[in-house]
Amino acid sequence: GRKFFVGGNWKCTGTTEEVKKIVSNLNDAQVPSFDVVEVVVSPPYVFLPLVKNSLRPDFHVAAQNCWVKKGGAFTGEVSAEMLVNLGIPWVILGHSERRSLLNESNEFVGDKVAYALSQGLKVIACVGETLEQREAGSTMEVVAAQTKAIAARVSNWADVVLAYEPVWAIGTGKVHSELRKWLHANTSPEVAATTRIIYGGSVNGANCKELGAKPDVDGFLVGGASLKPEFIDIIKAAE
Ligand code: 13P
Repeated sequence: GRKFFVGGNWKCTGTTEEVKKIVSNLNDAQVPSFDVVEVVVSPPYVFLPLVKNSLRPDFHVAAQNCWVKKGGAFTGEVSAEMLVNLGIPWVILGHSERRSLLNESNEFVGDKVAYALSQGLKVIACVGETLEQREAGSTMEVVAAQTKAIAARVSNWADVVLAYEPVWAIGTGKVHSELRKWLHANTSPEVAATTRIIYGGSVNGANCKELGAKPDVDGFLVGGASLKPEFIDIIKAAE
């Protein structure tokens, strides 16, 4: 089985005080065990050491991005090696905000995924189409091209979680089963059966149960609600 996965993407928000408060709420929460749900929170880089050192041990930490290759003269970037050195196990790559606002291409994201995996990081790889692409009927074409750029560079999917994040698609679960079919045809039946495909886009305490019950939805990547106490309810949707 694919263990339910709940990621909290804090994006570019928070102060030290707010981060401490969120961690303390998470640490006090009664949630299903690690056998049932894998919880990974992703603070901005500057808060990674604080969160890693104060968060309960059954929850893990992800960076929100990393550099595409070995570190060096790349001002403003953070390398995969640095994350490994800090003991950060996960990284989110290819988030739609980076694809659209920072022009990260499919190939660049694929290269990042391959390099991060080669350094021993686990990757939450994000795919998803814009509303215009959706309206043009090219959803699966766009999502398959994004996934193909990853599949072309990755042979071991054991440390990859695929996050499908469209804003329009809340509650459908349709693209998840198409994506699993794509993996079946283009990687291997085993990869298709074992890779977790999670959902992101306005997941909250009220809609998480219904979303999580869809057969091909193996968890969530939560933005806004991951900063609030209702994140605990979202974790409990694993049960
Ligand atoms: P929201 O949950 O705030 O819609 O954000 C989704 C997201 O981008 C998570 O990575």
